[in-house]
Amino acid sequence: QVPLKPGRSLMDWIRLTKSGKDLTGLKGRLIEVTEDELAKHNKKEDCWICIRGFVYNVTPYMEYHPGGEDELMKAAGTDGTDLFDQVHRWVNYESMLKECLVGRMSVKPIAAPKVSLFLHTLIFFQQTTEDETVLCMNTFIIKYVLICLKKVFIFSLLYFLFYSYDWFQTDSLITIVIYTKQKDMNAELVIVDCEDKRLRGEIIVDGYSYLVQVDLDHAVSEEVAVNIAEKVGKVEIILKKKDNIHWKMLGQPCEGHNTFIKRTDRGLFYRKCKLVSKTEVTHDTKLFCLMLPKATHLRVPTGHHVYLKQIITGTEAVKPYTPVLPFLPLDFQEPSDHDGVHIYLMIKIYSCGLFTQALDCLQIGDYISVSNPEGNFKKSQVQTSEDLILLAGGTGFTPMVKLLNFALAEVSCLRTVKLIFFNKTEDDILWRNQLEQLALKDERFEVQFILSQPAKDWVGKQGKISSSLLSEFVKRSRKDSKVLICICGPTPFTEQGVQYLKDLGYSQEEIHAFTA
Ligand code: FAD
Ligand code: NAD
Repeated sequence: QVPLKPGRSLMDWIRLTKSGKDLTGLKGRLIEVTEDELAKHNKKEDCWICIRGFVYNVTPYMEYHPGGEDELMKAAGTDGTDLFDQVHRWVNYESMLKECLVGRMSVKPIAAPKVSLFLHTLIFFQQTTEDETVLCMNTFIIKYVLICLKKVFIFSLLYFLFYSYDWFQTDSLITIVIYTKQKDMNAELVIVDCEDKRLRGEIIVDGYSYLVQVDLDHAVSEEVAVNIAEKVGKVEIILKKKDNIHWKMLGQPCEGHNTFIKRTDRGLFYRKCKLVSKTEVTHDTKLFCLMLPKATHLRVPTGHHVYLKQIITGTEAVKPYTPVLPFLPLDFQEPSDHDGVHIYLMIKIYSCGLFTQALDCLQIGDYISVSNPEGNFKKSQVQTSEDLILLAGGTGFTPMVKLLNFALAEVSCLRTVKLIFFNKTEDDILWRNQLEQLALKDERFEVQFILSQPAKDWVGKQGKISSSLLSEFVKRSRKDSKVLICICGPTPFTEQGVQYLKDLGYSQEEIHAFTA
């Protein structure tokens, strides 16, 4: 994120888009854009970008882009879909940029490169002797398969070998069985929603998504049960029939049904969750408790976030938040991670924040859309560590909550867990009391608070993230112990922190930075 000029917030952008001003320069006309035409609009003062086949004039949006003009210019005059998906595929650009729509990309004539490659190869073969031809032919076939079909081949093989579904029924139940052959299948990899007769079951493994999505033939009751046979990778989704009649079919397949694709190519799915409580954590931060619908099965993995979606003055706004626990458990007798029904979010309300101000206005009983989880943190990164060091700035503490609990409750090889928590003032420290209690209770855990704007009577450490502070607090418990350092906070905090850690000799594999 870059600092935006005054008058260039998202709210200001929404106002401009509603002002009736001609933002495309085409007076509301939609045109068909060729690649040559698109390429001509590649300057800051005249910048068009194509996303998923639609072309937008983003010139008026430049100063409003939270990532800065330079980021936007990377896609100037080109197809920016991949770049967009890498950075923030969760942003609803259709809604944000609807007044900037220039038109569609014109359809390209179908290219014939494969034919010419084939012809080229045939000509090559004709110029060789018979023996050479056989040899070349074999090499060619192998290379062709490897180069052209490698991805598709492995991909389809994975899918056909491992992923399929079936269903059966009793008088009162419908059971959909998904076979994945995934050995470490677990509840976090399965997301199920059933609403208005539409069943959606998604399995997410290693960056890929398998989807079963059907409009059911008959009505089912609100509850859904999910059984997982972890070792064989079998997932059962059990629905209760509303009427005890015999179903002739499961239902009509919907978009994406029975497909196995890259997770990032699957649109984010949202369900409406009810706000059940809102409690104060500090002067500006609240703990929101959201209740999932009865027919939803969703577990947010440690270190992953969800997106919340709200319509704010007619425009869809989306922001990421990292679920926490309702409190920091002090003893680890039972897994306290999830009751399967509630999602807890610790959210700082910014006085001029567009999204958080709207969130703060939500009343108990109101609904808000919550997406499927995203994130690239893997628990296995902690499972082999002996020292875990957590660097958090402000609400960058949120991913550390579940991580801390997981580490202390489930990772037996960990010798030390240290949280170095950077805040502006004492009043900003989240769950200070709970953290201090935990440090007293568990000798593996230590917490250090560092303030950047302390009051005069603060006797603890002060300052912002720096090489000297890190060299003082980030240490291995033994000379060669395996360490994992996780960092999360404002972007400059995270970026500087990672650099200092590298300067101090920690490797990329020993550092995990939480980002969007
Ligand atoms: P905006 O309208 O975007 O900004 C208004 C003003 O608020 C700004 O001028 C600035 O002064 C201040 N502000 C806004 N955003 C930031 C920021 N990111 N850093 C510093 N100041 C800012 N926030 C939480 O409170 N809890 C979470 O669990 C959480 N998880 C996140 C997970 C991820 C992966 C990411 C990327 C961010 C997370 N955030 C979290 C931040 C959150 O997504 C929003 O950026 C934040 O709530 C501000 O939104 P807003 O629309 O209210 O503010
Ligand atoms: P804040 O402004 O209160 O700052 C907290 C501390 O961070 C400060 O005391 C200071 O030590 C440090 N800091 C702040 N700005 C800095 C800078 N420019 N350079 C170096 N250090 C700096 O923090 P906040 O308002 O609570 O914001 C928390 C941030 O964490 C947000 O930007 C949010 O987006 C981010 N966050 C990210 C994730 C994630 O990526 N997974 C999760 C939660 C929060």
